[in-house]
Amino acid sequence: MGLLEGKCAIVTGAASPRGLGKAMAALFVEHGARVAVLDLDKAAAKEAAADLGEGHIGLTCDVTDRAACEAAAAAVLDAFGHIDVLVNNAGITQPLKIMEIEAENYDAVTDVNLRGTLYMSQAAIPQMRRQKSGSIINLSSVSAQRGGGIFGGPHYSAAKAGVLGLTKAMARELAPDNIRSNAICPGFIATDITAGKLTPEMNQTILAGIPMGRAGTAADVAGCALFLASELSAYCTGSEVDVNGGSLI
Ligand code: NAD
Repeated sequence: MGLLEGKCAIVTGAASPRGLGKAMAALFVEHGARVAVLDLDKAAAKEAAADLGEGHIGLTCDVTDRAACEAAAAAVLDAFGHIDVLVNNAGITQPLKIMEIEAENYDAVTDVNLRGTLYMSQAAIPQMRRQKSGSIINLSSVSAQRGGGIFGGPHYSAAKAGVLGLTKAMARELAPDNIRSNAICPGFIATDITAGKLTPEMNQTILAGIPMGRAGTAADVAGCALFLASELSAYCTGSEVDVNGGSLI
């Protein structure tokens, strides 16, 4: 029996072919969940949902748009009847240095990573409250914990640190409703977010700072998300779980 048998999960930003969202969605399905893939492009979201097999849905949703988040949550509820797990995975980064960050860079990165996490959570929480259960999983980053370093700019570190604060505040406020809120802090994981953006020298420097000596995989992060989504983590809330090969030791 799967760990998520009978559960329904929303994963934002899950249409990226090599992304963390898609890997999490696939592992959730393996464990019995029905999954709603949310992403910017409708066709890509539908295709990603179809790749998961039958019974899953793909919806267009820009997480920076509150009305779009509410509409997506309503559509999921309509299709599945409940919302048990929400993974706030949609994210963007920009490899800028502190003096290079313009207002539009700050807005774009903060909007998707932090505002999007708030809006999509606000869209799902009313149903989770009615159910008196739910698990919210937010994607933060090692960049929040160590002040960047890999390729994300300071505004990315700040937004992901904001995600940690939001995760803990939601955990505190929602615990009486049996809604858990936890964050995953991935280290360097090979996905499209990093693809083509690192020189061989940058790659070498990064790997030298990872005690396990390798980049993480999307499957490494998906395993952690499965734990946080399932009852195996029933007493975990407000936690930040590192998936970084020992980068912070
Ligand atoms: P990715 O670029 O492969 O996928 C991100 C997805 O988010 C894409 O499908 C994109 O279309 C979607 N997206 C972007 N803006 C959106 C919006 N406004 N609304 C809805 N969807 C939107 O990235 P990834 O590597 O899979 O990263 C997933 C998450 O993990 C992100 O939050 C990222 O910051 C975080 N993270 C990644 C790494 C890493 O090394 N890959 C490390 C730490 C944290």
